Amino acid sequence: MATNKASPTTTGPSADFFYKLTSAAPSILFAYWLSADGVSHCYPFISDQIRERFGIDPEALGQDADAVFAIVHPDDADGLKASIFESARTLEPWQFRARLRLLDGSYQWFEAHSRPERQSDGSTVWYGQFHNIQHYKELEQELRESEAEYSFQAGFQKLVARLSTRFIHVGFGTIDDCIDELLESVGQFFAADRAYLYAFNDDYTAITKTHQWCRPGVPSLVDEDQTVPMDACESWRQKLLDMVDENEVVFIETLREVASIYCVPVRVQGQVVGFLGLDSVSSRDWRKDQADLLIIISGLLSGALERHLLEEQLLNQSIRDPMTGLHNRRYLMPRLNELVERAERYDENFTIAMLDIDHFKQINDSIGHLGGDYALRRFADILSDLVRSTDVVARFGGEEFMVVFPDTEQADVHQMISRILDAVRHGRFMFEGREIPVTVSAGVASVRERDDSMISVDTVIGRADHRLYLAKQAGRDCAVDVSGVLRI
Ligand code: GH3
Ligand code: MG
Ligand code: MG
Repeated sequence: MATNKASPTTTGPSADFFYKLTSAAPSILFAYWLSADGVSHCYPFISDQIRERFGIDPEALGQDADAVFAIVHPDDADGLKASIFESARTLEPWQFRARLRLLDGSYQWFEAHSRPERQSDGSTVWYGQFHNIQHYKELEQELRESEAEYSFQAGFQKLVARLSTRFIHVGFGTIDDCIDELLESVGQFFAADRAYLYAFNDDYTAITKTHQWCRPGVPSLVDEDQTVPMDACESWRQKLLDMVDENEVVFIETLREVASIYCVPVRVQGQVVGFLGLDSVSSRDWRKDQADLLIIISGLLSGALERHLLEEQLLNQSIRDPMTGLHNRRYLMPRLNELVERAERYDENFTIAMLDIDHFKQINDSIGHLGGDYALRRFADILSDLVRSTDVVARFGGEEFMVVFPDTEQADVHQMISRILDAVRHGRFMFEGREIPVTVSAGVASVRERDDSMISVDTVIGRADHRLYLAKQAGRDCAVDVSGVLRI
């Protein structure tokens, strides 16, 4: 830098006086001179502390100020120069914050205040000071961070509250929607790329994806309902097995095209049944307490799944006969009412068959009650195997069963009844090494027969019941319908 400049002269107290005065001040005092053409600059005066703190010789700065500008953080340098030129132009007080490099190479924030004075030759001199504001900057940063943390925590609490309310009000059959909503909310809240739920198979050799949310533009890892054998990826398999054993969150880095994954166990009735996954395609920083937060979320999920399972079990118990596993009358009667309503409204037909095991009392008497129970279960299995999935099979009571054939031709019903009777007759009912001869009789009735005007569940059942009685009268092991005895 050029050195032919007009330095201001000081009168009054000596330079030595100023050095002494400023040596103990927390600020660095200075007079900064800038030539009229803005090309040359120097510090006619600067506190001796510039040497102690920054290793710059104040004497040398009397010739050229470049050494000070060289320790300004590169990101702050342009702004600093621009602000000096602006102050020289307007003669407004100059004030600026910039990072300066200390002797140990680290940068700290400083703030400068000074007042410019135009000299007769057109140059400018600023009188002022700069001081360390690192402490304030750090406090400011801490405050910003703690505010951000506070709002994060509040947001997380809100999320948990919303999801738990949602799960508490889960109606039967809507659990899938709730899980989808949970995955989307959690994925978005943690700015993940995907959030999913995988279920383990019984012996922990495969996982099936049951639910997933993907950020728009992020492709799905595997298809919905897709089952992946665990040994497809050895490192992953071991981690997942550890997760099951320890019931702990596992963090997996770089698995194929995924940069990081959190897998959080989901437990139902004390057993790890699957895991909640959260992943990121590109590398990113997760929160330090990420695992703890995800445990709270998986707890919500576990609770909801557990309640759902319990409700399902209760519902099943209430509509199924525990001995045979068939539906019971509580399930059957509303179905029959629905069918009668449809018959009235849409003129649809349906047929019922009342089936009763012949001389069942004798079976009980000859081989005991347990043998009788076995015969009931065996008969129930034959019925379930033979009927179509749209037909309803129920244990009506004791050794009486009912099959409902919705919307079925008479000929098809005949065929089905004959198959059932035949299968029982030749079914080889073996109990404790003894074969029990079993046959059944059936009474068959349709909701619409000939010119019926009266339609009700009781009428149809009454008719089937009466025909069952007629089948017994006719010698058993046969069926009776509207046309009479059907020997099969
Ligand atoms: P029919 O050919 O006329 O139908 O004669 P049946 O002996 O089968 O008819 P009955 O109504 O006289 O006897 C039915 C028997 O079924 C009486 C009852 O003790 C028995 N029973 C009812 N429920 C069960 C059960 O759950 N297990 C067993 N082992 N027996 C049952
Ligand atoms: Mg009987
Ligand atoms: Mg009976």
